[in-house]
Amino acid sequence: MAALLRRCKTLPWLLLAVTLMGCMVPAATREVIVPIISEITPESCTQQLQSLLALGPRFAGDADETRRTVEYLEEKLRLLGYPVQREAVGRWRGIEQVNLIVEIEGLVDPTIVVEVGAHYDTVRNCPGADDNGSGVAGLLEIARVLVHHRPERTVRMCFFAAEEVGLVGSRAHVDRILADSSRRVDGLLDLEMIGYRVHEQGSQDAPVRIPLIAAIPHRGDFILVAGNFQSGGLGNIFERCVDQYVPDLKYFSANRIAGFFGDAARSDHFPYWQAGLRGIMLTDTANFRNPHYHRPTDTIDTIDFDFLCAVTRATTAAVIEWGGVVAPPSEVARSEQNRAQCRSQNALHADISGIDATPR
Ligand SMILES: [Zn+2]
Repeated sequence: MAALLRRCKTLPWLLLAVTLMGCMVPAATREVIVPIISEITPESCTQQLQSLLALGPRFAGDADETRRTVEYLEEKLRLLGYPVQREAVGRWRGIEQVNLIVEIEGLVDPTIVVEVGAHYDTVRNCPGADDNGSGVAGLLEIARVLVHHRPERTVRMCFFAAEEVGLVGSRAHVDRILADSSRRVDGLLDLEMIGYRVHEQGSQDAPVRIPLIAAIPHRGDFILVAGNFQSGGLGNIFERCVDQYVPDLKYFSANRIAGFFGDAARSDHFPYWQAGLRGIMLTDTANFRNPHYHRPTDTIDTIDFDFLCAVTRATTAAVIEWGGVVAPPSEVARSEQNRAQCRSQNALHADISGIDATPR
């Protein structure tokens, strides 16, 4: 009987705890993410890539091609509503190279920066639809749908120059990150060829296949998530977003282990790894799947836009989760209502239990 009384005494506290749990402001992430990523479609990705490829090749060693590409991207981002920063990264073969940077200032922790990037250059005489028009189209889509987003941390989008000639743009960018003590960059999601997919068995090659550790499938229908050990947490965010928001997208996780493979170092995330920063490369695996890699046949008709769209949606979701979400005004109003409702319920429980539930 005494035990029963003791249990009864705990009941009001239990009720209170359950009520408070229900009253916690909802993360609202799902409600924010789903409508935003739904704006990205295979059609919108097609348009992005088509317009970019109309410029022709984008070789860093060609002054006209480089100028044309930079001006195009700059104008595109301005029209979306971003102030665009030209980040000078020096000359390559006498030609001035610039990264283009746009930011959405964080509203809670603006000094913490989350980055998503893609290189815009190609090798000589190559349309570069997959390498890396696909990554640039994806990044432009991310910029387009996030322009009114209100992140907690600063979201930075980087269009890197001259990747094909030695990671020139990203190396200089990382140097700048290291020199800027006023901000802390939390890592980079690197879009490096995200448009080529094949469903046939035997379409996927691999530098090495290690059972249980790096058992890369033989069908080239997945996106590879490549991260070194330190970047594991960032890779997890992307993979969780695929699971939650784009479940039809297949991925192969080389998260945490890719740092052991030389081929996984061949893009703009690598200077991040070298500097001890986090970096994840999202890739269709380039020459291990795409026979048009670095050839004049890397054209738009080889691109799978459902795949490009799916990877871009998952990346967008990851950027939102990683950068945090400040609730839009309607959300704030709703959670205020929720809190008011909770206060009256708490008062009710206080009456029942005889305790004072006034917040202190
Ligand atoms: Zn590339």
